[in-house]
Amino acid sequence: MDNYEKLVDRISKSAGLDAGEIERRVEAKKAKLSGLISKEGAAQIVAAELGLNLDKERLKLSELVQGMKRANVVAKIIEIYPVREYNKNGRAGKVANMVVADDSTNAKVVLWDTNHIALIEQSKIKQGDVIEISNGNVRNGEIHLSSFGDIKISNEKIENVVAEKVFSQKKLSDAGSGQSLKTRAVIVQAFEPRYFEVCPECKKRAFEGECKIHGKVQPLKRALLNIVLDDGTSTIRSVIFGENINKLGLSDEEIFSLEKFAEKRVNLLGEEKMFFGNLKTNSLYNTTEFNIEGIEEVNIDVLVRELEAKPIAPETKAS
Ligand SMILES: [Zn+2]
Repeated sequence: MDNYEKLVDRISKSAGLDAGEIERRVEAKKAKLSGLISKEGAAQIVAAELGLNLDKERLKLSELVQGMKRANVVAKIIEIYPVREYNKNGRAGKVANMVVADDSTNAKVVLWDTNHIALIEQSKIKQGDVIEISNGNVRNGEIHLSSFGDIKISNEKIENVVAEKVFSQKKLSDAGSGQSLKTRAVIVQAFEPRYFEVCPECKKRAFEGECKIHGKVQPLKRALLNIVLDDGTSTIRSVIFGENINKLGLSDEEIFSLEKFAEKRVNLLGEEKMFFGNLKTNSLYNTTEFNIEGIEEVNIDVLVRELEAKPIAPETKAS
């Protein structure tokens, strides 16, 4: 189900009306507002008019909808990343990221409040704990928690969490920033690789042989490759790191020598693969980029099975 379908399903269950009726009301609302709002936006208004407060209800992670401001979930922490400090545009502070999961899916949680972050720093919440999050903002598929939000240990037990990263198969034209997806696409452009250095210990970016945490180090050289993918519905600028570049049939020698790469570059064009990753907004250029986390060969058997499972579109039927 997409966001809109989930929302309609939710409203229909809470209001005790059937989904068709909710959709009719949403369409009517949209028409009344001259189509100026999205289906999701119209659905939120319909919910409010029905006296529902979807924000207050506890949701499964898969039911979270972009733009919710008071999302409540109970989920298990499956990963906690080290607390980071930032200093951007004259504002300094700390931010902590973790991944939580329930039996529907998993999601990233971003903590901005020092009191919440202190819970991690003091190990009061740790990996494996079940937590209750209230008043979270849902942005780009992540739950953001400001000082208006709350996080606390829950006594509930959650079994069978979805710990694997979920990549749903989607068309590029349907996907938005913050989503994880899997798509079958062709490389239509490939740029020269760019190189950077990382610390051999923490694998984080090192600048001029210096790591922020480990000081002077003997850095490791890493490469990134910018390509443009096309899946037939849209093109998207994409970035591939490390060994995923090798999966395009390039040896390390060809990746780390611009001369050798130039000979191989034309072979990359037209290559069709399954690409997995996350769509991210590049805030510098305000564009959406596909950050590729995995590449697989196109499995013809699977494709054939998928095609067979689909009803034949009327225009492809012989007349
Ligand atoms: Zn380091």
